[in-house]
Amino acid sequence: IRTIGILTSGGDAPGMNAAIRAVVRSAIYYGCKVYGINRGYKGLIEEDLVEMNLSSVGDIIHRGGTILKSSRCEEFKTEEGRLQGVKILKKHNIDSLVIIGGDGSFIGAQKLSELGFPAIGIPGTIDNDLPYTDYTIGFDTAMNTIIDAIGKIRDTSSSHERVNIIEVMGRHCGDLALYAGLAGGAETIIVPEVDIKIDEICTKLKTTQKRGKRHSIIVLAEGVGNASDLGKEIIKKTSADLRITVLGHVQRGGSPTAFDRILASRMGARAVDLLLDGKSARVVGIKDNKIIDLEINEALSKTRSFDKDTYEMVKVLSI
Ligand code: ADP
Repeated sequence: IRTIGILTSGGDAPGMNAAIRAVVRSAIYYGCKVYGINRGYKGLIEEDLVEMNLSSVGDIIHRGGTILKSSRCEEFKTEEGRLQGVKILKKHNIDSLVIIGGDGSFIGAQKLSELGFPAIGIPGTIDNDLPYTDYTIGFDTAMNTIIDAIGKIRDTSSSHERVNIIEVMGRHCGDLALYAGLAGGAETIIVPEVDIKIDEICTKLKTTQKRGKRHSIIVLAEGVGNASDLGKEIIKKTSADLRITVLGHVQRGGSPTAFDRILASRMGARAVDLLLDGKSARVVGIKDNKIIDLEINEALSKTRSFDKDTYEMVKVLSI
């Protein structure tokens, strides 16, 4: 009988629970045993694990966060730490592992595979910063959270005729800013992938004000810099009545959207299929609405192509 371990690692994301549920349920359906490892690689090294059954994952598909908890673990970056992890896994007769996390967690999975321990990665991060997949689990929910916030800020912003800078997450990836900015009707979107001059931002503010716009929303991706520095620059050049909102960790929480639940379920089921097929060192993704899988190394070596067409289109629509 096969025994699969599952853990969540790195930054959490809404939809991780739906992925855990899919892995546990499909593994049990195919006659496997499943162990849930708490607190990511840290919990693995510290032998914090528990056998899961069908009801361990009941009533979680709609919950944000991760019931298995997550962490960052420096020790796992050392061979000694990883060997300790493998020792714990073997002690419990666990023969393969599913890891839900971002690129850092995938490197951990790759290195486990190199030690001869089968590991499969599922992309869970709100940042959408993994180039091999169209979407990561949590991105859609975070995007919707941002849109909700933009709507609320827009209300008060227009009452007071203010400029608002909304700083959003995404690390070095501008996807959250771009798509939430588009859907939220932002006037200006600032992302790490495209260079934009402060003068350009100010000129746009002035021209839109001239044509009678009562408010202006600027969405800033955190990877570019911080909102208060940008705000100061804009005030210096335009004397705008400006407010700043840093959305922060609200973007990481909340009930996952239908899209994220479905994505997580499909990816979780594929991860189990791969392990049952004897595969290792692979990650699951989605391309053109088809679930795909590829080698971890290949997935991590791909470079991101930013959706420049959509970015340019936003400029047209927000004229
Ligand atoms: P994410 O998975 O969200 O990108 P991190 O980059 O913090 O988050 O990685 C999560 C964890 O994955 C780390 O705390 C560490 O335990 C493990 N990890 C990251 N990089 C490596 C590495 N080079 N080798 C082994 N494990 C790693």
